[in-house]
Amino acid sequence: MDSKVYLDHAASTPVDPIVLEAMAPHFSDIFANPASSHRDGQRSEAAVETAREQISSLLNCTPAELVFTSGGTESDNLALRGAAIAARIERNADHILISPVEHPAVSKTARHLKEIHGFELEYLPVDTHGMVAPDDLATMVRPDTAVVSVIYANNEIGSINPISELGAVCRSRGVPFHTDGVQAAAHLPIDLVDLNVDLFSFGAHKFNGPKGIGALYVRSGTPLTPIQTGGGQENQRRSGTLNTPAIVGMASALHLAQEHRDDRREKVMALRDHLISRVLEEIPTAHLTGHPTKRLPNHASFIFDHVDGNRLVASLDVQGFACSSASACKVGTPEPSEVLLALGCSPQHALSSLRVSLSHLNQPDEIDRFLDCLPEVVSQCRSQELNVELP
Ligand SMILES: *Cc1c(COP(=O)(O)O)cnc(C)c1O
Repeated sequence: MDSKVYLDHAASTPVDPIVLEAMAPHFSDIFANPASSHRDGQRSEAAVETAREQISSLLNCTPAELVFTSGGTESDNLALRGAAIAARIERNADHILISPVEHPAVSKTARHLKEIHGFELEYLPVDTHGMVAPDDLATMVRPDTAVVSVIYANNEIGSINPISELGAVCRSRGVPFHTDGVQAAAHLPIDLVDLNVDLFSFGAHKFNGPKGIGALYVRSGTPLTPIQTGGGQENQRRSGTLNTPAIVGMASALHLAQEHRDDRREKVMALRDHLISRVLEEIPTAHLTGHPTKRLPNHASFIFDHVDGNRLVASLDVQGFACSSASACKVGTPEPSEVLLALGCSPQHALSSLRVSLSHLNQPDEIDRFLDCLPEVVSQCRSQELNVELP
């Protein structure tokens, strides 16, 4: 068997060697707390502020509009909780509007705000590609809406929402608009002014940066209550000693991702299109999920009739291919993907997904080896009955 082929870049990516090199001195020489007033601390602070400036200039925002967090999940939590609680305090707003195809970092946070804090939670409709229509948002947004959140590029199905148009609707009503841009930042140009967003979540490990670091863009003037309190770092918005090596790494990784974005997009799109067309041609029971063209350039996702997605992923792993399935396996009982159910898939189909997410590091021969192997693995997984209780 050839060496392992990694096709799960939507789950995480390797740290670029250039990024690792940029981070290294901040674990040893430049270790002081950036909040310390002595010269050692000032060196750390300078590194953080240089990184903040680099990131803000790549994204068209001001350095003060960026809050460093521990990753995409925390950014989503801070955005939803912080904006919802601030809106309740400032203008008695108790209504939250999200799409039904959010990452759990958004959907479970919104549910928590409903169940624990008594917010009213409503879901925007989506089409069969998981896209939200600006007209539907215009109908459902209310004067007492505390925050709206719609994912930019979907992690499970790759679809890209019309964020700028959705943001314009919210802006005209004076309602804060958040988007989870964790997948988008790796592949799409991000101009935070053009996007009409108030809050935008980033996570560095999806674009060849380190894990455990992310950022939340908070547009100047957006009310936000902190959810993590303490020493008052990040202008009182997120307390905790700053993760200096990771912040430096995030800036380096975002720079590389955006600098090489167009070349990489060409390369991965060609591989992805080849992959999608061969899968649909050679596997008669395969369906593409997500939008056929308005999708992440590296992202291919399918459902296969009568196949257990978790079994498929396990079998592909044995063959040397790392992919993923949307159905989270919970102690032997797979849960159908909420995202796929929201698109109108049957519970059975929502357990039968495969996600293949590429990067600039993948070579054409790796994709061909995968494609040579996949039809056989799918038919093996199909021959065994779906051995699960459906809800
Ligand atoms: C990975 C991911 C997250 C979570 O980010 P972490 O940095 O892993 O916490 C949130 N949203 C989307 C869309 C993601 O792909």
